[in-house]
Amino acid sequence: MTRKLLIGAHMSISGGVFNAFQHGEEVGCATIQIFTKNSNQWKAKELTSEDARKFRESQEKTGISPVVGHNAYLINLASPKKDVYDLSMEAMLVELNRAELLGLPYLVMHPGAHLESGEKVGVRKIARSIDKLHQETKGFRVKICLETTAGQGSSIGYRFEQLAEIMDQVKESERLGVCYDTCHTFAAGYDIRMKTAYENTFRAFDKVIGVQRLKVIHLNDSLRDLDSRVDRHQHIGEGKIGLEGFRLLMNDKRWEKIPKILETPKEGGTGKDIENLNLLRSLVN
Ligand code: ZN
Ligand code: MN
Ligand code: MN
Repeated sequence: MTRKLLIGAHMSISGGVFNAFQHGEEVGCATIQIFTKNSNQWKAKELTSEDARKFRESQEKTGISPVVGHNAYLINLASPKKDVYDLSMEAMLVELNRAELLGLPYLVMHPGAHLESGEKVGVRKIARSIDKLHQETKGFRVKICLETTAGQGSSIGYRFEQLAEIMDQVKESERLGVCYDTCHTFAAGYDIRMKTAYENTFRAFDKVIGVQRLKVIHLNDSLRDLDSRVDRHQHIGEGKIGLEGFRLLMNDKRWEKIPKILETPKEGGTGKDIENLNLLRSLVN
């Protein structure tokens, strides 16, 4: 099995965080993404040093690296609702601590949804919140990676400018990275289906954010059209982006060392992950 390409998929942690490695290995992942805790609950069972030891042991045995963390969907650092916001800050701090304990280099985070408070207020609130989190995690190596979003509802991050603005407003911005989700950006209006469009999109990304800040790529085709602002993942080549966009991405030397991770539908098993990964490998010249 070829391990040269830094591709993989999001893996389940049910039964323990370390289980993700075995699943990842079965599917042929060189890299994986995990939730650091249950993704749709606030509470988490404490992560013990024994859990962390088992995790590192499994990582060493499988050689899967890096392992990217993804935060829980409930977390919203832009929420104007005090109860949700307080829970979000608390949960994000817990997730950063878990990620650090497990040695994850990145924790991908959806920037947040401003609800009725407006984008400008939302962006400021996210930046201030990240400042607080940074203050409370001094010396941590894990970097928060802001994920590009589809712009569904009031979610922030569907324009590169919004992510750039958050990073500009964060004091220790060198502790931040960006995660580019192909489905989200496409739904947000950034086309990558043909060479010219692809080049224009990443030229804009470089100009506004800077390619050096790109740390993680999520490889998802999109069920919905360009600029639909609807976030629905589809299997590679079976959505509105199509194979050519992924061929351009897989052959772009700039992303060789960046973990490229599938978040495509599992449909009750990992069989589709194997198919998607094989398809991605076949696209490389
Ligand atoms: Zn995400
Ligand atoms: Mn994603
Ligand atoms: Mn998504």
